[in-house]
Amino acid sequence: MALKLPIYMDYHATTPVDPRVLEAMMPFFSEKFGNAASVTHVFGWEAQEAVEKARAQIAATIGAEPKEIIFTSGATEADNLALKGTMRANAHRGNHLIVSTIEHNAVLDSARRLEKEGIEVTYVPVRSDGLVDPDAIRRALTDRTVLISVMTANNEIGTIQPIRAIGQIARERGIYFHTDASQAIGKISIDVNDDQIDLLSLSGHKVYGPKGIGALYVRRHKPRVKLAALLDGGGHEQRLRSGTLPVPLIVGLARAIMLAREMMEIESSQQAALRDLLMHAILENLDGVRVNGTMNPRLPNNLNIAFEKIDGEAMLTAIKDVALSSGSACSSAEVEPSHVLLAIGLPAELASGSIRFGLGRWTTEEEVDYVAGRVVEVVGSLRRLAPGRPGVAPANALN
Ligand SMILES: *Cc1c(COP(=O)(O)O)cnc(C)c1O
Repeated sequence: MALKLPIYMDYHATTPVDPRVLEAMMPFFSEKFGNAASVTHVFGWEAQEAVEKARAQIAATIGAEPKEIIFTSGATEADNLALKGTMRANAHRGNHLIVSTIEHNAVLDSARRLEKEGIEVTYVPVRSDGLVDPDAIRRALTDRTVLISVMTANNEIGTIQPIRAIGQIARERGIYFHTDASQAIGKISIDVNDDQIDLLSLSGHKVYGPKGIGALYVRRHKPRVKLAALLDGGGHEQRLRSGTLPVPLIVGLARAIMLAREMMEIESSQQAALRDLLMHAILENLDGVRVNGTMNPRLPNNLNIAFEKIDGEAMLTAIKDVALSSGSACSSAEVEPSHVLLAIGLPAELASGSIRFGLGRWTTEEEVDYVAGRVVEVVGSLRRLAPGRPGVAPANALN
């Protein structure tokens, strides 16, 4: 098959909607357009039935009860609801929150907002391999701790956290445990009972579902999690998330999660094999490169590499025909090195010289070969143009 450019290798940022997901969604935009809250006619019943079927399917894939799934606009909102909702509703139990330093900004910025409201937050550092040490969580506990939030898998370096051990610590101490599983759903198996999870965030567009939909799992028994809503309104979703339900998106989310679950084993092994091919092709053909974060346990589709004496932004500009992400994040107008890479101990220069490769459902071996070739070529040229000086070469000098 001929190679088609540009190549998409940024599947941690978002994924395209799988055609089977789109097909499932389509009728709910037009013929089956009812409001799931309309209880007086068949249009409403049809929508409600679709929503409840989706809710049950999503719940089943993580070992939850349907009633424990609250639909949100995405993982950002689910994270906000988990942290703010839990801390605000449980002020009588304490005012201390524990998060890791490599959480997504939806968690970190929620924690910072809560600090302004008087909540004490401990940011537990991670080890240089990108893993949270459960003992560090244990040491951070106080008798005022209400909630621990540690992501299942990291969106930049793909490291999979010891969530079961952390869940166990939380359960022993009667503390709630939240995990952002946006990147992990459909790639590794998660069971909210085995893993002792009380709250779990997920997102549609990271699993070949639509953008603008996600969910928060909220445990109802042993323990029952008390939450305060962020939105006031019609009282949908057990009063936890008011707003008319986006039925097509919910149907799509469920179909996407079911598909990912069905194909998990085969997809994971295929993507890990391609990822390893990419890694070896880069490591064997370049000096001054290293993988950020441990390779095991790691998401099968993730690779994150630091290139010495390279500016990641310059590299991405030079490799225009491949969609990748660098180890920098644009916050406001400035480009800053990724907080995740700094948290695992990379100097700012290496963090800025890091590239994230995200493989996905449609990544081919031809694409991997091409990307590896381009990376090796461009790193070589950039280093020749500016020996010892990272990133000063104008990108257009390469083309
Ligand atoms: C993408 C992502 C989010 C945000 O999800 P949205 O649905 O886009 O709001 C949160 N956490 C992690 C780990 C993510 O990868």
